Amino acid sequence: MGARCVVVGGGLSGLAAGLRLRDAGHEVVVAEAGADPGGRTRTSWHRGRPVDRGFQVTFAGYRETRSFIESAGIPRRDLRPMTGGAVFVGPDGARPFPPGPAGLARFEGLQRGDRARLAKLGAEVARGRPAARLAPGGGEDQTAEDHLRERGFSEHALDRFFRPFFGNVLLDHSLSADAGYFRFLLSTMARGPATIPSDGQGMLADWASAALGQRGGRVSCGTEVEALELDDRGERIVAARSSDGTAIEGDWFVLAVDPPEARRLLDPLDAASAERVPREPASVVTASFALSRPLYRGRVVLVNTGDRPDDGPCVDILCQTTNTVRPGAPDGVHIVLAGCVTTGGRSAQGLVAEVERQVAEWAPRFAWSEHAEPIEIVEHPWAQYRPFPGVRAALPGPRTAVHNLVLAGDLTTHPSVEGAVSSGHRAAAIIDALVP
Ligand SMILES: Cc1cc2nc3c(=O)[nH]c(=O)nc-3n(C[C@H](O)[C@H](O)[C@H](O)COP(=O)(O)OP(=O)(O)OC[C@H]3O[C@@H](n4cnc5c(N)ncnc54)[C@H](O)[C@@H]3O)c2cc1C
Repeated sequence: MGARCVVVGGGLSGLAAGLRLRDAGHEVVVAEAGADPGGRTRTSWHRGRPVDRGFQVTFAGYRETRSFIESAGIPRRDLRPMTGGAVFVGPDGARPFPPGPAGLARFEGLQRGDRARLAKLGAEVARGRPAARLAPGGGEDQTAEDHLRERGFSEHALDRFFRPFFGNVLLDHSLSADAGYFRFLLSTMARGPATIPSDGQGMLADWASAALGQRGGRVSCGTEVEALELDDRGERIVAARSSDGTAIEGDWFVLAVDPPEARRLLDPLDAASAERVPREPASVVTASFALSRPLYRGRVVLVNTGDRPDDGPCVDILCQTTNTVRPGAPDGVHIVLAGCVTTGGRSAQGLVAEVERQVAEWAPRFAWSEHAEPIEIVEHPWAQYRPFPGVRAALPGPRTAVHNLVLAGDLTTHPSVEGAVSSGHRAAAIIDALVP
């Protein structure tokens, strides 16, 4: 017979764990504090159009995520590829970089020598499975910046290509991520265009949550877990106590929450693991708009390669997401997301006005104030942890000091959708193997 499993946290890691546990025949309840599942990958709606609460994509080489998406039942056709890739926009114009080697060969945003270096690096990381790049010995002791310098990339390539682009992936322009993780990301991108689901990134969680319900599991939203309670001998968790006093009893527990919350819930039970939860956040603020007329055509994202001010708002990335998820928009609702990376304490105060100023520079003939209606501003002070060299090697493992408590979440793997999903799959496999 299956075990009673309680998953605390209904982000992608918790849902991935829940689905796998249910498929293995266990009883599953997912306790989620928020009103909806999804955690950091949620989508709002505006006049029938999905508005992601932060610009996010699924990279082509995300193997575990692909399996999660299949398990959630999302049809392949609903994963909309960003076929146009990125356009790098700066003071000297717009440089399109469509995905793939042919795109790189034509890309004018890099000098010829750097193009050749990038082609070589891309071919190198495209060999083998992306996850292999994350293994010890893959460059985890070196920063991405040092790695790129060692390979001969110019200052121009670092400042006008790698920092702007990976600044939006790592939510950090310093290129201080470890080189192993950086090479993993490159490797996932080398497999093809990134995708966004037709209903926005939140579709992953919504469908996973529905699939879990259809298979007899349960996602209990609005259930904030205050503490995990031990038995009298202090050996096993017996219940997750919610803030309204309800005890959710179980045989096995998965803790799949964000890093600050994981530290809080783990500390009384396993202080050593709690101590290893990463502390340095990368952060981002996103402003969304509805346009009555499209700003641009094509399934592309605009990356700002211009100089960033020392402080204050900056449009680091701009994407008309509806071009990708629901092309056409005959009713004249085009959703645009503008992201400002705030890692290290940068202020995004005044971002809405800054978007108008930036668009006037990039597209002077577009009457922004006439066509754009601001929707919302979403702040993510803890978007993901910063994977400095040495950080991934020091992360807490999935096993904790309490036998029936298993840890999941990107904080146990790497700071991405794939990291979250793979951590959930791993937690489920551990429990399934241990249940008698
Ligand atoms: C704006 C933004 C852009 C990003 N872009 C990308 C991208 O393009 N590609 C990529 O791969 N990754 C991206 N990421 C990172 C990715 O979204 C995260 O790594 C991943 O979603 C983390 O999932 P998780 O399940 O580990 O944590 P979370 O999503 O944080 O889920 C944890 C859940 O636990 C719940 N919870 C917390 N405390 C409690 C409690 N006490 N009781 C019950 N529930 C609780 C929370 O409400 C939440 O739902 C981005 C993140 C952000 C914020």
